[in-house]
Amino acid sequence: MSTMWNDKAPVAAAPSAAAFDAWRVRADFPALRQTVRGRPLIYLDNAASTHKPKVVIDTVARFYSEEYSNVHRGVHYLSQLATDLYEDARRTAQQFLNARREEEIVFVRGTTEAINLVAQTFGRSKLGPGDEIIVSAIEHHANIVPWQMICREKGATLRVIPIDEHGELILDAFEPMLSERTKLVSIVHVSNALGTVNPVKEIIEIAHRHGVPVLVDGAQSVQHMPVDVQELDCDFFALSGHKIYGPTGIGVLYGKKALLDDMPPYQGGGDMILSVSFERTVYNDVPFKFEAGTPNIAGAIGLAAALKYFRSLDIAAIAAHENELLEYATRKLEAIDALRIIGTATHKASVISFTLCAVHPHDIGTILDQHGIAVRAGHHCAQPVMQHFGIPATARASFSFYNTMEDVDALAHGIESVLEVFT
Ligand code: PLP
Repeated sequence: MSTMWNDKAPVAAAPSAAAFDAWRVRADFPALRQTVRGRPLIYLDNAASTHKPKVVIDTVARFYSEEYSNVHRGVHYLSQLATDLYEDARRTAQQFLNARREEEIVFVRGTTEAINLVAQTFGRSKLGPGDEIIVSAIEHHANIVPWQMICREKGATLRVIPIDEHGELILDAFEPMLSERTKLVSIVHVSNALGTVNPVKEIIEIAHRHGVPVLVDGAQSVQHMPVDVQELDCDFFALSGHKIYGPTGIGVLYGKKALLDDMPPYQGGGDMILSVSFERTVYNDVPFKFEAGTPNIAGAIGLAAALKYFRSLDIAAIAAHENELLEYATRKLEAIDALRIIGTATHKASVISFTLCAVHPHDIGTILDQHGIAVRAGHHCAQPVMQHFGIPATARASFSFYNTMEDVDALAHGIESVLEVFT
């Protein structure tokens, strides 16, 4: 049986008895009402990006129509209002992740920028020749390439926790990899390509026993389960707003204050300084030290609206509903002879990657699109995962709380149509 929840996740033990009404929440999402190619849209590409509830769209529109100005440097009314909204957004993100302090929340463009920031600051200042960074074999390219770049520059080595045939980490291999050379473990919480939920709490405990800090890539986890960075005790946590019903171009890097304080700035410019002269520049405190230039003000405010919207729903009921979608879709797709599900971990989020005998995943995606069904086809920015399974690509259906059992039926029916074209 698949389950969405990491067994360490707090809500797993007590899923809400209340059934989740996906049809009711769909009404909050204007984009889901449209037809594409003459069919009602069935949107199953949520791991790539989620649609936006009206409250997020309205919040961003109101900001630009009535509240807009640049932040932090103005004495006039609108600048103070925009600054208050922007800093309120930071507090919303802090509460959402249960960070101890608001200074631990750095606004970035998304998970990719968050990881690059840590690689270019923490990595650049801590790594030397012979040092090591540990990632896993199911990382998104965003949690591989920044480390390759800084390792190459510093003469350090990137080491990889292996996975088994289900797409689960081989944890027994992890602890022996840790040594005094290890400077950071950077690990994905939920794999975008396979849906595997990693036991990050256990990984963090093991790494900390060896004095090694841990970054968690939460791009695919925060929209499916409650995340408490203090409870996890992770040292860094990265998320992307657009994957949790918020705007694009905004995300969060959480970092423990002592670590952020110790890290040099990432980019230079306005806002990240206290004073500048040609002789000496004094950097600002965290988080501003890492937010050079005019930030994505509307994005941060829209993200806060998205986080509040998500929190207003019953997250345990969301998890139960998404798990039902996953189980129902798994059963339906497994019944199709030519179909192979890639990624069969015990703990999975609502993501199903699959191949269909000799049909190229792009053809699957294109034919499903003719039925109004949006799935993603490709390597999902996780080419090492594809190499592990000996395939170039998969088709991937990824479910949100606004998907229904009818969407799953339509997907299964659409896949049968794909097979009819190719047989
Ligand atoms: N990490 C994971 C697991 C992802 O799924 C993604 C995006 O799909 C990223 C990182 C990168 O996120 P973004 O493109 O929003 O920076």
